[in-house]
Amino acid sequence: LAMYEAKRAGRNTLRFFDTQVQATVVAAAALEADLRAGLEREEFRLHYQIQVDDSGKPIGAEALVRWQHPQRGLLAPEAFIGLAEKTGLIVPIGAWVLEAACAQLTAWAAQPGMRQFTLAVNVSAKQFRQPDFVDQCLAIFVRTGVNPNQLKLEPTESLLLEDVDDTIAKMTALRAQGVRFALDDFGTGYSSLTYLRRLPLDQLKIDQSFVHDIPDEPNACVIVRTIIVLGQSLGLAVIAEGVESEKQRKFLADSGCRLYQGYLFGRPVPVDAFEAAVNCNHRS
Ligand code: C2E
Ligand code: MG
Ligand code: MG
Repeated sequence: LAMYEAKRAGRNTLRFFDTQVQATVVAAAALEADLRAGLEREEFRLHYQIQVDDSGKPIGAEALVRWQHPQRGLLAPEAFIGLAEKTGLIVPIGAWVLEAACAQLTAWAAQPGMRQFTLAVNVSAKQFRQPDFVDQCLAIFVRTGVNPNQLKLEPTESLLLEDVDDTIAKMTALRAQGVRFALDDFGTGYSSLTYLRRLPLDQLKIDQSFVHDIPDEPNACVIVRTIIVLGQSLGLAVIAEGVESEKQRKFLADSGCRLYQGYLFGRPVPVDAFEAAVNCNHRS
């Protein structure tokens, strides 16, 4: 175990065995086996968090994965996405998420008030890097009968770190089908303006860490305003995530940001609760 740790740390270094190392490795191995079993037992669920425009009208949602664990209860992504990324299990999990999300969009297309909804789906870099990612998506579109125009894929900035040409080729192929792209957690990563200009994006999503600190923290205010202007100059829509207070919403609106997501409008909830909230909002 110590040797593997040393290799992972870049080789040519020392690591000492202790029982904590062993406990961590054993726990990760157990979680990995559990994750595989969870996939087979179909224990993953999607929750939906509403997105609204500046008049408060719902425009769609973001799909967020949960794991309904038989012993541990409902688990947030924080508890398993990291390991899923590390072990590659994010690929089949991500495929399941995309298929479930597309099936949900198809169901909404038949419901008044939800017909025009867009659904944002997170894609991990590892999933996106699969050579057949585009073909997998196309197969899912056919199986679910989804209108790809209503699908918004949400990679994070880390995708920009490697093989930009491959990223652009895949995005372009999917965009030809109507799929849109939003860059998640914008401002926290690499934020290379050169790449940003080259990528066929539709939307920037201001990371919630900045939204959290407006309007009281001057640096956060400057960053948020800059991202909004940057998006506008590049012809991209800008959405803010993690909007929790009316003060934050007002600052964003005054700065020119027209789309919002956050607890102020609704938490991520199962589909029944999501539809009930939207219909309620629709009638009022
Ligand atoms: P994200 O895509 O940036 O999703 C936003 C996260 O912020 C969600 O956490 C959401 O519940 C939370 N959030 C939304 N509004 C507020 C708010 O007003 N205040 C605060 N404090 N938090 C808010 P969640 O659901 O735990 O997801 C965490 C992350 O897990 C996501 O971040 C995303 O990176 C990842 N994730 C979730 N579902 C998937 C998936 O299907 N595939 C992949 N690859 N990653 C996923
Ligand atoms: Mg996201
Ligand atoms: Mg985010």
